[in-house]
Amino acid sequence: MDPILSEAISAEIEQAQRVLLVTHVGPDGDAIGSLLGLGALLEAQGKEVTLACEDPVPESYRFLPGSDAVVQATGGRYDLLVSLDCSDQRRMGDVVPENLAGLPLINIDHHLTNSRFGTINWVDASAVATTQMVLALAEALGWRVTRQVAICLLNGLVTDTRSFRTSNVDLAAMRAVLRLMEAGASLPEIARQALEQRPLASVRLWADAVEDLRLEDGILWTSVTLDMRQRHGMSENDFSGLANSLSGIREASAVVVFTEREDGLVDVGMRASPGLNVAGAALRLGGGGHPQAAGCTLEGDLRQVQDRVLAEVRRSLSERVANAQ
Ligand code: AMP
Ligand code: MN
Ligand code: MN
Repeated sequence: MDPILSEAISAEIEQAQRVLLVTHVGPDGDAIGSLLGLGALLEAQGKEVTLACEDPVPESYRFLPGSDAVVQATGGRYDLLVSLDCSDQRRMGDVVPENLAGLPLINIDHHLTNSRFGTINWVDASAVATTQMVLALAEALGWRVTRQVAICLLNGLVTDTRSFRTSNVDLAAMRAVLRLMEAGASLPEIARQALEQRPLASVRLWADAVEDLRLEDGILWTSVTLDMRQRHGMSENDFSGLANSLSGIREASAVVVFTEREDGLVDVGMRASPGLNVAGAALRLGGGGHPQAAGCTLEGDLRQVQDRVLAEVRRSLSERVANAQ
């Protein structure tokens, strides 16, 4: 890690007593892992930490030590804000009170599309997970990584790489895994809890969505409607597991899964084959992400959202073909 950055971050942390850590709405394993991991590291430095996320911790990550401490609302006085795994300010949702607008904000993230909204921006798109960056910070500042912290940090690496199968996995990621396993985290146990275990209802719902799959211009897409979710009693709205499973389909260059939410918005999860890129399409639609996995959240009825998104993804794929010629 760049020593100028670690010094700047260390100086902000040293000056602060009450630290508010925030991760993104609709949290995934890296969001929760980095929140809990950095939270425990800062607590060990004698800080009073508040761990916040607009949405509750999903069932898959409740095995992580400290997950009970995550709150959905914040109040009171803070000296410092830290955002984790958020590519733009809106990803923090409404959990940050407006009167905190003048506070120092350390933005720690690995999304290529990060809008650099902090007072200190540490964005490393070569990291496979934000938790890999948190480990690098702990090592740079000489903080001890306990078993509890290691479990949380390894959870981010395991989930964001789908157990080390994504195209960005490199030696630095595997060195981080080694360090975290040396500190006592179990890779198979995390993979089982965070990636393998799921309720039967989610698979029945996937079956409905698979039934509706369409392949058009190399884009494989489907929707998880509110109706389907009600039928199967699925209140959680993270269907990244479905998008991930579909991303291996040979006939598809890109995968898009639309999820209708209770509040009328539509979550869009996108995947691209290696060499292709959906981050640009997501960014044009107000979202963000990585070249191979990106997303956005849109207003409008499902049909309209589908047309808009598929047009953007088509555009991204054809630009790529044009560039290659
Ligand atoms: P998902 O399909 O939910 O697993 O998301 C894939 C990637 O896209 C992740 O890196 C997310 O951070 C990013 N992403 C998903 N939804 C959004 C959104 N509404 N805004 C910005 N980025 C998003
Ligand atoms: Mn995330
Ligand atoms: Mn991440």
